[in-house]
Amino acid sequence: MEELLRRSEKLTTVGQLAAGVAHEIRNPLTTLRGFLQLQLKNRTGNAEHTSLMLSELDRINLIVSEFLILAKPQATQFTVKDVKQVLRDVLLFLDSEANLHNAEFLTVFTEEPCQISCEENQLKQVFINVLKNAIEAMPSGGPIYIRLKRNTSHITIEIADEGIGIPEEMIPQIGSPFVTGKESGTGLGMMVSQRIIQSHHGMIDIQSQVNAGTTVTITLPTLKDEGDGGILVEKAGAAGLY
Ligand code: ADP
Ligand code: MG
Repeated sequence: MEELLRRSEKLTTVGQLAAGVAHEIRNPLTTLRGFLQLQLKNRTGNAEHTSLMLSELDRINLIVSEFLILAKPQATQFTVKDVKQVLRDVLLFLDSEANLHNAEFLTVFTEEPCQISCEENQLKQVFINVLKNAIEAMPSGGPIYIRLKRNTSHITIEIADEGIGIPEEMIPQIGSPFVTGKESGTGLGMMVSQRIIQSHHGMIDIQSQVNAGTTVTITLPTLKDEGDGGILVEKAGAAGLY
């Protein structure tokens, strides 16, 4: 009976998600169709319309690719990696993006090794999503502090920006599909990140203050505690944790 209930809850979530995706994709498709019809009727190619159509197509592409990340977990392979190295790779990858927005990565990494069992590409995706949000939160740039700490049971990655912040009432909604505060956001990055961290038996916590900044804290069990995710969650469980 409980299993059935769980299954139906799961189905509802998937159903809601599917409805959301359909809705999000139908909007740009409707715009595209309208412009194409107009061009057909007027027998013209209007540059402004064409550029709008391109941006609508980009949007569909973005939504679909963010969903593909979710659709891939069957192919996951957990291996032992040092989070420090994974983070360094991501920071290098995002360096030009940060420069472009006058954002500066400032790292404070523990000297200790930070090995965990992880799906490297998925973990990279999480860091990319969170760091991109930090960059986007500071329209005129600023510092982004990346702190890596460890204790015997877990590794903590803190990503802190001095950006626009998040209104208090919005914080609990972040990670639900399509919750976005941006004009051209998808509201999928944090949902994907949350799922990935959950599958790693970790947690994501968000602390934020409007016009002061946001700190996203990702906690992951160390290799030694690999099978202990449940205990870790219980110990650190508190409001605002995902
Ligand atoms: P998107 O970035 O496409 O909007 P996300 O799921 O990545 O979707 O983020 C959801 C929303 O959470 C963002 O639109 C933004 O309003 C808020 N948010 C997330 N991270 C930050 C941050 N570092 N600073 C300010 N707002 C943030
Ligand atoms: Mg984002």
